[in-house]
Amino acid sequence: MAFDLIVKGGTLPDGAVADIAISGDRIAAIEPSIEAEAARVVDASGNLVSPPFVDPHFHMDATLSYGIPRINASGTLLEGISLWGELKPLLTHEAVKERALAYCDWAVSMGLLAIRSHVDVCDDRLLAVEALLAVKKEIEPYIDLQLVAFPQDGLYRSPTARENTIRALDMGVDVVGGIPHFERTMADGTRSVTELCEIAAERGLMVDMHCDETDDPMSRHIEQLAYETQRLGLHGRVNGSHLTSMHSMDNYYVSKLLPLIAEAEVSAIPNPLINIMLQGRHDTFPKRRGMTRVKEMLAMGIRVGFGQDCCLDPWYSLGAADMLDVAHMGLHVAQMSSPAEMRKCFDMVTTESAAIMGLEDYGLELGKAASLVVLEAGDPIEAVRLRAARLAVVAKGKVVAERPSSAAQLSLPGRPASVDRRHRI
Ligand SMILES: [Zn+2]
Repeated sequence: MAFDLIVKGGTLPDGAVADIAISGDRIAAIEPSIEAEAARVVDASGNLVSPPFVDPHFHMDATLSYGIPRINASGTLLEGISLWGELKPLLTHEAVKERALAYCDWAVSMGLLAIRSHVDVCDDRLLAVEALLAVKKEIEPYIDLQLVAFPQDGLYRSPTARENTIRALDMGVDVVGGIPHFERTMADGTRSVTELCEIAAERGLMVDMHCDETDDPMSRHIEQLAYETQRLGLHGRVNGSHLTSMHSMDNYYVSKLLPLIAEAEVSAIPNPLINIMLQGRHDTFPKRRGMTRVKEMLAMGIRVGFGQDCCLDPWYSLGAADMLDVAHMGLHVAQMSSPAEMRKCFDMVTTESAAIMGLEDYGLELGKAASLVVLEAGDPIEAVRLRAARLAVVAKGKVVAERPSSAAQLSLPGRPASVDRRHRI
């Protein structure tokens, strides 16, 4: 039997060395050694072969808009939101689409092949929704894009947001979003969580809310989100993004809160790059880290994925579509330093985030979509440490990106001719 593609000799995330054979867009065999013919062979020997990176929290309608019409001077979330408000009326369908597609090229080159993007619905034209639905279709052969209807200016605070959220869902947006901490009052925030969860339950959709993205320890909308998940039987389909206020909450309250989140099977998506950049801006010293309680949630059995959130937009002036940057920052900020914790950080930008997104076709298993990445690293922890080069990226059976080794040639007397910073001693 001849295959279309064989990825040979790679080390899988569990440490096994295997060949992966691909027919069409499917994984056809994973065995220690496959001798069959193939139209193309990718040599992965000595390198890590992983399922692709997954970004469970992104804003593709805003990406690559850095500096338009101006730069965020204070560096805060709130100035970012008002700056985005200035940019929104200037958006065109073509420009949003072009920037999104350019970003997706970056993503492919970095082995990032599944993205959940929020799309702002607080523009009565719903132009960004239309543009990203078109992008979703166009990139479907290589990236799985999931869209979240996101009422950025508040479901109730913005006069047409509620109606626009429904319109966006009718147009085919996949997930129900929200931003309870941005409503006018705590009570409105609570009410928005209830209504949005009811909409999701009625339509059989998942929920992913920006939730408590603030340093205010009294911002406790995650409690309502867990409650509504439980009440409406949405277990396993609801996610709270950011949850930064939990960093500042009273410990006794958190000891009650975490079991409620676990019981409702609500997942969490911290966004380490953005949280560490935007939060704590009102503090003098000591400054809070502004990231939620990752280790404590994991210890309670709560599923956690790391998101990138932003790339060159009103909120963040950096970003490179590199989920290993995200894992690296998350590992440091959450002090995930044991071998098991470091390994978990890799899972949080691959398998854990795929599970949050409900990607059933994801993973290095027989019959699943043939999407993978060959990383210049020996194992997942080394991949995070080095933010390893993506030597080859395969998307749904096709090699879509390749690059040479990042090893440097050395000119030092008596020392090796090249160095790649892999730990082999
Ligand atoms: Zn966000």
